[in-house]
Amino acid sequence: MPLPTPTESPSCVICSRPLADGLTIPTTSGGTVHVRCAERQARGAARRRTLRAGITAALLAGLLAMTAALGIAGWGLGAEFGGLRTEGWGVWAVLAVLLIAAHILINRRWWHYTVQSARLWWRWK
Ligand SMILES: [Zn+2]
Repeated sequence: MPLPTPTESPSCVICSRPLADGLTIPTTSGGTVHVRCAERQARGAARRRTLRAGITAALLAGLLAMTAALGIAGWGLGAEFGGLRTEGWGVWAVLAVLLIAAHILINRRWWHYTVQSARLWWRWK
């Protein structure tokens, strides 16, 4: 494979087009990309994170609903919690907190950016 010669114009790592057309920004891996290419890729990543956060939330909410439908006893925890089905609000609160913590752990980056944009919105409103 021939090495690039100095006369060869540098190209964008993302789209492979010459860097001359448009604003550019260096990457952490040593390459250079168009700002518009980096923004497009970042928007795509944000959409995927949001989709994954939504799916995870739906799955965890489904788990909570299933637990509510079956009762805590259905999960083999009846004896420990005294067979609490409707009156065990403490158990539901603990379960909800655990599921929210699981969502934060699974979607750390999404939560980070969501909290960050909420802070910025609060600061600039
Ligand atoms: Zn590009």
